[in-house]
Amino acid sequence: MEIKLMKNILSANDEIAAQNRKHFAERRVIVMNLMGSPGSGKTTLLEQTLTRLTDKIRIAVIEGDLFTAKDAERIERTGVDVIQINTAGGCHLDAAMIQKACESLDLDALDLLIVENVGNLVCPAEFDIGENFKAVVLSITEGDDKPLKYPLIFKESAVTLLNKIDLLPFTNFNLQSARRDVSTLNPTIKIFETSCTRGDGLNDWTQWLLERTAI
Ligand code: MG
Ligand code: ZN
Repeated sequence: MEIKLMKNILSANDEIAAQNRKHFAERRVIVMNLMGSPGSGKTTLLEQTLTRLTDKIRIAVIEGDLFTAKDAERIERTGVDVIQINTAGGCHLDAAMIQKACESLDLDALDLLIVENVGNLVCPAEFDIGENFKAVVLSITEGDDKPLKYPLIFKESAVTLLNKIDLLPFTNFNLQSARRDVSTLNPTIKIFETSCTRGDGLNDWTQWLLERTAI
């Protein structure tokens, strides 16, 4: 019974996601669904990304948050347009929320729309929002066991950011085995090692993103 209900919810979501995807393609805007645990550094990474890209392409951000506008306020300070979605406790964004948020965006005036999903390694990976690709942030402090414990999000993503790489010497995180596990789950995934405090990998990451945005 519960399984059937979940299937119905997902197929209703997929229909709206397909509408979103068509709409984004018509407007020639690339959409990235940015996912990761709470505290993995998604918003900080986003700030660093926007700082490097806003003079090159036109970007807007949709911020998913359980209750607050804290992340949206940080993004706003970079000068990029941001739409806040509060899920009121909901643990992921769905396609209908994105469709609604896009009503207040001029998609024609954008090259890239970045959606920061709710901090969670589980269901954001299950809900298609009509994005072109998903990105998952895994910080070193979360542990190298996460790819195998949460395989779907790594299988679904086009790119993984191993973030807070500057903290590697202070943890028992095994970089080699994390990279191997991610690549085994998803042989075509791109992996970047990033640090937003030291700056490692940020130029390579933003260059990759820029190439994905060229349409
Ligand atoms: Mg955040
Ligand atoms: Zn959820």
